[in-house]
Amino acid sequence: MSFKDKNTDLNHTLSCHNCGATLQYEPGTFQLKCSYCGTINEIEQTNPDDIQALDYEAFIAGNSLQPENKIEIRVVQCRQCGAQTSLPDGITSELCAFCNSPLVVSTAKNEQLLRPHYILPFLLKAKEAEERLSNWMSALWFAPSTLIKNVKQIQRDHFVGMYLPHWAYDTETETSYDGQQGIHYWGTESYTTEENGKTVTRTRQVQRTRWYPVSGRVSCSFKDVLVLASNSLSRNVADKLEPWQLDKLQVFDERYISGFRSETYRIDAVAGLNIAKRKMEDTIISAIYNDIGGDEQQISDHESTYNHIKLKYNLLPIWISAYQFKNKVYQIAINATTGEVIGERPYSALKIIFAVLVVILIVLIIYLVAGG
Ligand SMILES: [Zn+2]
Ligand SMILES: [Zn+2]
Repeated sequence: MSFKDKNTDLNHTLSCHNCGATLQYEPGTFQLKCSYCGTINEIEQTNPDDIQALDYEAFIAGNSLQPENKIEIRVVQCRQCGAQTSLPDGITSELCAFCNSPLVVSTAKNEQLLRPHYILPFLLKAKEAEERLSNWMSALWFAPSTLIKNVKQIQRDHFVGMYLPHWAYDTETETSYDGQQGIHYWGTESYTTEENGKTVTRTRQVQRTRWYPVSGRVSCSFKDVLVLASNSLSRNVADKLEPWQLDKLQVFDERYISGFRSETYRIDAVAGLNIAKRKMEDTIISAIYNDIGGDEQQISDHESTYNHIKLKYNLLPIWISAYQFKNKVYQIAINATTGEVIGERPYSALKIIFAVLVVILIVLIIYLVAGG
């Protein structure tokens, strides 16, 4: 099996100074490599101090749309799932990496798009990704047999390196709340029971909770709350791919995309912030519970303000494939920095029913043997 590195040059010529061939980014490195003569070209790495988030308000006010913040990319939109991806040069027929339906390559056009701020290169080599995928496959319980055959086919033919658009938000939140603090205490309860054929009344100790009204404020600090800026990968799969090795983030450089595809964002920074707020909610709620203290907590009302919001527009790398099984689309994605495999998959109803029957049979046999 092998992962194909599709050639996307983003209208940017990256020629080998030795032989003139197009250079491709080499996963697992900070280098470009010539696939013909093997010449290596280093890409200078970003100093971590140069990774700075932008002010959110200034960004959405339109400062970002200046010509120097744009990039021209040849993209094709999938008519089935809406994904908009950069397309390799010279490709005449292609399947969408997200939904496996044919792309109408003749509709590809050059578009002026927002230049990504940062890019996380592929830290995982294709070979390492293949190993992770094999491990994942060997743990496919209750998968239909034809699926396993299909997935093996996918590994050979359709896995592509793709950069996914993500918004990353930083913010400091202030939340005021009203609620109740519950304190446990022991109380006496009377109950009736049967003793020597007579109904008698007895008492016992029971734990009760006394509630006190409370209110207060909590502050939380968030850094790099990630939101996938498209709907091509299911959000469930995208969230499970976290965490990413964001300490390896580089200032955006088109050379890292050479040989790979990238998806353009379809969810803007404002809509993305709303999704980020939902992701931050669990942390805020636990901070409130912690602040209330006591033995039990209830929140009746809470309201947050989000201060000093900053953002980054990042491209993050995955190996992706989609496959169809009985008219349904399933996606398999590998985080190309940690090797985490998140795959959607069907289950074989027959295999599950058979396994359940075997378990029932074993329990029945044990029962009969023990009972007899
Ligand atoms: Zn060369
Ligand atoms: Zn598609």
